[in-house]
Amino acid sequence: MTAVNTDVQWLQCVRCDERFSIGEFKFGCPTCFQEGREGPLDFQVNLEAGVPKDFQAAWEAGPQHNIWRYGDLLPAADAPLSLDEGGTPLTYMDALSEELGLNVYVKNETMNPTWSFKDRHAAVNITLARQLGYTKVVASSTGNAGQAVAAYAALAGLRALIIGYPTSSELLRRVMQIHGASVVTMPKPEIGGMMRQLVEDHGWLPVGSSDPNPLASPYGVTGYKTIGYEIASSLGASPDAVLVPTGGGDSIYGIWRGMNDLHDMGLIDRLPRMVGCQTEATHPLLHALSHNHTEIEVQPEPDSLATSIIEGRCGVHALRSLYASGGTATAVTEDELRQAIRRMASRGFFFESASTATIASLVRLHEEGYFKPGETVVCVITGSGVKWPDAINQLVPAAPHLEQPSIAALADVMEL
Ligand SMILES: [Zn+2]
Repeated sequence: MTAVNTDVQWLQCVRCDERFSIGEFKFGCPTCFQEGREGPLDFQVNLEAGVPKDFQAAWEAGPQHNIWRYGDLLPAADAPLSLDEGGTPLTYMDALSEELGLNVYVKNETMNPTWSFKDRHAAVNITLARQLGYTKVVASSTGNAGQAVAAYAALAGLRALIIGYPTSSELLRRVMQIHGASVVTMPKPEIGGMMRQLVEDHGWLPVGSSDPNPLASPYGVTGYKTIGYEIASSLGASPDAVLVPTGGGDSIYGIWRGMNDLHDMGLIDRLPRMVGCQTEATHPLLHALSHNHTEIEVQPEPDSLATSIIEGRCGVHALRSLYASGGTATAVTEDELRQAIRRMASRGFFFESASTATIASLVRLHEEGYFKPGETVVCVITGSGVKWPDAINQLVPAAPHLEQPSIAALADVMEL
């Protein structure tokens, strides 16, 4: 094995701490993989020399489009791909803040090019895929990740295959096809085996989760660090808590790593508590936390409004971010999700159901006395509500049609 160059950038196993030079990794940490464990690889940068000059300028300028502005702390890229992702608003929620006695902000990731946070992930991952010489990338997705991969692969001139399952978003599958991706569905339990064959025998690179199952990509998760940079840069400090809708666990871990970068460089003087927001339908994080487990048990994946976070298998890196930050996890009910969706809609926002798990969790944790009065709390809103027509259909009936319109007919269906 060649010596690991830790002068600038390297990968380090979250589980066994072994270090590796930047390169191609499809199954997470090779040592853990050989021993039958799953070891997510964490991307690390040597910050001993202090804040890199370009990063300092980006930090001072505040959130703006194109995450490669933070390129000093991302995997080195010869030709970075960008659709001007990032630079999303951090919006102060005045009514909610007043009601709860907190300073509540939402980090509105629906403002990204494909209307979700996954653009940050895909920008890094597809850049690295092309740099490593791949022409074909594959991901499994309920919708957001697949759409982002399809869009960035189109930009890069790479082929993309997105594998969904019957209850993943049909609308988004069609959007992926418009971008030129090949899209298929199959029973969810069959997807892992199919992807493994494609990767091992047919030259496809996996660009999904960083937590091996068994396939992994160690680079996309670094895109989420930029959410942390932007939140702290907007506030001029770390918030007290960051609430993140959590499925596989990459986003909560990535944001936590971003906050740690800032802390290591002395740009913020404390770290936030990370809160992993899941649903009563499936909540492996809360289960592990409440039993003081250091490993995560796989849970069933029943239907829920919050399709994009219904993942019975959450990565151990997410759990580690909760323990390291002194944070917590939640499991909100479908009713609480509905109330949170309507609460946000009444303020003019329509967020995807999974994202509103953060708002539902905020209200629940506030009722349980989790926050101190006046704390600053950020809810990360990962995607747009308009991407999930099945959820919309469950929230409201179709609008009435007036075939022979008259005031009397209108009065039959609404109050005048
Ligand atoms: Zn390892």
